[in-house]
Amino acid sequence: MTTLEHNALQYHAARDARPAGKIAIQVTKPVDSQDDLSLAYSPGVAVPCMEINRDPAKAYDYTAKGNLVGVITNGTAVLGLGDIGALAGKPVMEGKAVLFKKFAGIDAFDIEIDETDPKKLVEVIAALHPTFGGINLEDIKAPECFQVERSLRERLSIPVFHDDQHGTAIVVGAGFLNALRLTGRDISLAKIVCSGAGAAALACLDMLVDLGVPRKNITVCDSRGVLTTSRDLSEEKRAWAQDTQASTLGEVIGMADVFLGLSGPGLLSQDDVRKMAARPIVFALANPEPELRPERIREAAPDAIVATGRSDYPNQINNALCFPYLFRAALDVAATTINQAMKRACVVALAEMAATDAQFGTEYIVPSLLDKRLLTGVTPLIAAAAVESGVARQVWDQQVYRGRLEA
Ligand code: NAP
Ligand code: MG
Repeated sequence: MTTLEHNALQYHAARDARPAGKIAIQVTKPVDSQDDLSLAYSPGVAVPCMEINRDPAKAYDYTAKGNLVGVITNGTAVLGLGDIGALAGKPVMEGKAVLFKKFAGIDAFDIEIDETDPKKLVEVIAALHPTFGGINLEDIKAPECFQVERSLRERLSIPVFHDDQHGTAIVVGAGFLNALRLTGRDISLAKIVCSGAGAAALACLDMLVDLGVPRKNITVCDSRGVLTTSRDLSEEKRAWAQDTQASTLGEVIGMADVFLGLSGPGLLSQDDVRKMAARPIVFALANPEPELRPERIREAAPDAIVATGRSDYPNQINNALCFPYLFRAALDVAATTINQAMKRACVVALAEMAATDAQFGTEYIVPSLLDKRLLTGVTPLIAAAAVESGVARQVWDQQVYRGRLEA
């Protein structure tokens, strides 16, 4: 067992009078007397029940719903570990709840559902939704994740957000904008080659197009090679098919400005990197082992801008840079959804935060995860986007809100 493995088990185990796991529930109101008890529970509790029965919106006034997110998985695509099952995914979901709390003061219940049929999964989650102010879908494999998210977004009037898709897309979008800025590239001319056509890759590509990359400048490869119009492809992949005879990554990477890897370890070669345009932008994001290690990328192209998913290299593309603040903003304005305007606002806010930092440069294209300014810098811009795009249900004042976040 390595030191990390040993320490990870020790960290999660019960020790020094702390229980197993890493998160627990807290009581927020006094429950010290008989009177307190008769308010917290029967008979007093019946009063807010009947208020909510008359007006469901009152649930936000009298329960924890408005600050509570469900982190929901079926364990079919956990981290890079694959289909390890709902229960084995629980440490990850508890970890996500820790990040929600630590970075944005949001309470989260982790919910591990033993169901792989997407239709049934949707039914279970829809039935659970009254509990929550928002739902963070997590580690559900593609292509089921597309259907599950789409169905729930249609059915529910609370935010539903599949973090593995859109959280990744937001942070990639921010890093991408700054990499373009540093290399003086025009977004409408950037040529992109993507390895991977799964949940994360396709969401990232949608975001890049939303930010201004022409679809025709993007070529995508999956495990069988280039997505071409002559292949029999799923609906999601078909949207990225190119009319080309090329079939391998090596054939399409020539003069690419950007490589986006959301596929698997070792799938990019140094030869591929050498074929790219000058000052290439290489996001090798397969976790934990990237498509090519940063030091090997640099050997092939010393002036490359490199990002990975790892914390032990610069430019870590980590979803925790966005999901706490997106949900914080969505909950605070009681948004009915997390829409594209909010996601785009988050991309731009993250990019600006890094670009205006003294450390900004090829090794600092996205903010540090521990940057204390994230909550107050990013959240109000997302909330403003929710209000402006008409999905907020709460009256809201930007100045007052900033003050509250800073307090
Ligand atoms: P996914 O839905 O399973 O997608 C994986 C994709 O990789 C599929 O499209 C698959 O092709 C493709 N692939 C597999 N072998 C390939 C090959 N030899 N050449 C080209 N493509 C190949 O997984 P995901 O959730 O999108 O995640 C993909 C990777 O990105 C994982 O390593 C994950 O850890 C990483 N990731 C990193 C971050 C981050 O850094 N923040 C965020 C999200 C994901 P088929 O479609 O043909 O099966
Ligand atoms: Mg995940």
